[in-house]
Amino acid sequence: MTTLKQLYDLQEMDQETAECRDRITAIERRLGDRSEIEELVRRRDALKESIDRLTVRHRSESLEAESLRVKVEEVEARLYSGSIKSVREMEGFQKEASFLREQLQELDERVLESMVALDEAQRGVEELGARSVESEERWQVEQVELGRELKDRRTDLSDLEGRRDSLAAQVSGQDIRLYERLRVSKKGWAVAKVQGGMCRACGMALPTHQLQRARTGREPVLCNSCGRILFMS
Ligand SMILES: [Zn+2]
Repeated sequence: MTTLKQLYDLQEMDQETAECRDRITAIERRLGDRSEIEELVRRRDALKESIDRLTVRHRSESLEAESLRVKVEEVEARLYSGSIKSVREMEGFQKEASFLREQLQELDERVLESMVALDEAQRGVEELGARSVESEERWQVEQVELGRELKDRRTDLSDLEGRRDSLAAQVSGQDIRLYERLRVSKKGWAVAKVQGGMCRACGMALPTHQLQRARTGREPVLCNSCGRILFMS
């Protein structure tokens, strides 16, 4: 003969089993999963490549700036040498000197910008490198812990399944079928506790005759409102 307590215990066990299975699935997914570390390494490598590009750019801009500086000095030396006789020639040199100075200023700014960018990228590479090392260390520890936990959880699961089977064997076939049906339709919550005269699943106040039947705990009494098996502890 089934008691409602048995159905309630069965539900507790089924919930525990489901949690255990979920945890096992989650552990299995994380075991061997190096995606976090790989992502850090991938970002570091991409940044390293950008350093190569920035270095080339910085070098060519620096060289360009140097040769322009020489040119500016040459023009200015000529300008202040006192060798220019005509006003027109003087104006021509002045124009050229100021044009070259402007160009040099722009170029110097670009050189500075690429230097800053290079500096940032180098710091980024170092930071990502350090983070991937940390992540790797953490991963190694975590993998060992997860491996241990997985073993324990699998033992727990087979233990739970064994206990569940022997409990289910004590419940009548008809009641098991009712329980299983409700377990599916009520998303794992087939048995509802009664507290203060109310069904705890739906909050409905239960009529006295229903409470009395549920109290005897012999045969399943369903809540009028949500259809779950009522259980009074
Ligand atoms: Zn209910």
